[in-house]
Amino acid sequence: MSDPIIIDGRATAKQIRDELSLLVADLGTHGITPGLAAVLVGDDPASEIYVRNKSRACEKTGVHSEIIRLSGKTTERELLDVVIELNERPDIHGILVQSPLPEAIDEFNVNITVLPAKDVDGFHPDNVGRALLGRPGYVPCTPAAVMELLKRYDIDPQGCDVTIAGRGNIVGKPLMALLIQKAAGANATVTVTHSQTRDLADHCRRADIVIAAMGQAELIKGDMVKEGAVVIDVGINRVDDPKASKGYRVVGDVHFESVAPRCRAITPVPGGVGPMTIAMLLKNTIESARRTLTSG
Ligand code: NDP
Repeated sequence: MSDPIIIDGRATAKQIRDELSLLVADLGTHGITPGLAAVLVGDDPASEIYVRNKSRACEKTGVHSEIIRLSGKTTERELLDVVIELNERPDIHGILVQSPLPEAIDEFNVNITVLPAKDVDGFHPDNVGRALLGRPGYVPCTPAAVMELLKRYDIDPQGCDVTIAGRGNIVGKPLMALLIQKAAGANATVTVTHSQTRDLADHCRRADIVIAAMGQAELIKGDMVKEGAVVIDVGINRVDDPKASKGYRVVGDVHFESVAPRCRAITPVPGGVGPMTIAMLLKNTIESARRTLTSG
């Protein structure tokens, strides 16, 4: 096997941000600055980092961003009221409510309160249904990131056997919906596995494209992947590492060292799907702002 292509999410995300900056400049000529509001409830340190990274990417692209910080004691009603206020603000084109939320808040109620037109995370059932039906709408950012990486690296899923490891609502399920569409860049035969799947290795070994989204550190090993497969690793896991300055390192769901030599192409963690997810959030926010031009 020749060396695998290492899919560079950072470089691709930068390329997309540059493309998006042009759209932002064009919106500027119409007097519009795209605006994203991120609502952060509680003080989860990982969420704080995610939201800060999103906000920084906005700045780099000319998108206005606001972080609304609410206490961990916020009630569901109070959070819904904040979302309703944001729904009504003409300068805010995208709203995201960072998960996880405190246990007392039902995430579904939050998702259905965000206006579908500002639902740049693609979590509202209206947008979820649109993705399933193959109609225009907002696609969740991580599945969109995976599709965009495949497209930009000329990896056509058409006719391929694709195994998605993980049936989560924000990655596995929507990815399944995107990949089975009767459409260019899709047309795949998709298997979705989960914790009750009898033989994960067997499903992975049969796949031309393996997409791992389980949150299980380095579970997919070299002997679970066929020669020449494409492997997309969505997982983000912290593992203890006394040698690392922070005492931990971040790994994916794929054991890169044993899997990469067998692959045609593979995404690293970090530096693969992660940066692209943020680029897709910007894309959705700018798209929402552009729609205001046509909707008047
Ligand atoms: P969920 O918890 O919603 O879903 C995890 C899925 O993996 C479930 O379907 C679960 O099965 C399945 N699973 C768990 N353990 C196993 C196992 N041992 N064998 C087979 N299947 C298993 O997670 P998310 O979809 O939200 O996230 C998945 C991963 O992706 C996480 O690591 C997360 O951090 C990462 N992520 C990365 C993003 C990025 O930007 N790169 C963005 C979003 C998430 P069951 O349904 O039976 O419980």
